[in-house]
Amino acid sequence: MGIVARDLVKRFAGGSGRAVDAVSFEIGSGELVALLGPSGGGKTTVLRILAGLESPDEGRVLLRGVDVTDVRVQERNIGFVFQSYALFRHMTVRENVGFGLEIRGKSRTESDHVVSELLALVRLAELGGRYPHELSGGQRQRVALARALAPGPSVLLLDEPFGALDAKVRLELREWLRRLHEERAITTVFVTHDQEEALSVADRVIVMNRGKVEQIGTPEEIYDRPATAFVAGFVGSINELEGEVRGGRAALGSLAVHAPPGAGDGTSVRAFVRPHDVELVGVTSRVEKRSSVEVATARVERLVRVGWMVRIELTLDDDQPLTVELTKDRVAELGLAEGEEVFVNLRDAKLFVQDYS
Ligand code: ADP
Ligand code: MG
Repeated sequence: MGIVARDLVKRFAGGSGRAVDAVSFEIGSGELVALLGPSGGGKTTVLRILAGLESPDEGRVLLRGVDVTDVRVQERNIGFVFQSYALFRHMTVRENVGFGLEIRGKSRTESDHVVSELLALVRLAELGGRYPHELSGGQRQRVALARALAPGPSVLLLDEPFGALDAKVRLELREWLRRLHEERAITTVFVTHDQEEALSVADRVIVMNRGKVEQIGTPEEIYDRPATAFVAGFVGSINELEGEVRGGRAALGSLAVHAPPGAGDGTSVRAFVRPHDVELVGVTSRVEKRSSVEVATARVERLVRVGWMVRIELTLDDDQPLTVELTKDRVAELGLAEGEEVFVNLRDAKLFVQDYS
């Protein structure tokens, strides 16, 4: 195991309750894991506990099988990068990257060699002589990463490393982090509040909210099988429909979908369905009446073009809003227009229904 967090608890003086509340996870050697969640969820605190910058009130941290809970930061062999990592302004790129090596007593030649290798890795080989103010934001973050990698850490911790950069640069850096990880395979944990960043870059995702772990899984598992209502709502856009169990099925207006396991009649339920998982059967006046219990009628309120997709805002026959996404070609094929009545099919398999009592 690369990193093991066991029942971590952290309370801050003056804070209300636990900033980190019984957090446990295991990260394999060489894994790239995202710690994902909303602001205030406890992500930074967990990362700081892993780094040794914060000590937990309860729980243990193991790195490569060794309990390091009481080991100081400097002895944990960890590299870290924060959102706004201050480079030394009066040092060149090369000097910044080499800084950690020289204080560790490496010779000048050794250090030069490592720095050149790292600058090539972060694709800044040509810019070694520049000063931080002569670099773009994305280049500066790459220097910060090279500096964190210089001492050859066994674990790399990144706290919202691309958070302060603009969207295009973030996309490039995500790609770059993925490729860097493929080359070096250092056990890496990066914090983000951006679900798209987590799902597109990480091997596995740990979703945190209010100090607790909500779910740990591959991006596919988190997206397709959210374990909690929080995850369903936080990761990707999703529709939330309310209803109750009647006759063993979850009734959502005139629809009857599968009930959560063990939920008896009268139980309040919430069903979650992704906009692209709703089947829009067609305009009611033009398609055959469907009598399945999973099919309902809905009214098209608004059609919004979003790139090559169209977001269709519907109102179900029981007045609950439902958003569907289709390609613009499909919308044209169905002849959809605002004000039309349509059949929608909420295919059971794509629904996540939760006991809400
Ligand atoms: P995240 O990184 O997910 O935004 P944090 O770990 O920074 O979350 O914070 C979790 C909770 O702990 C928040 O309620 C925050 O206000 C609180 N907190 C974090 N650091 C401190 C601190 N040094 N002193 C007091 N409260 C803190
Ligand atoms: Mg944070």
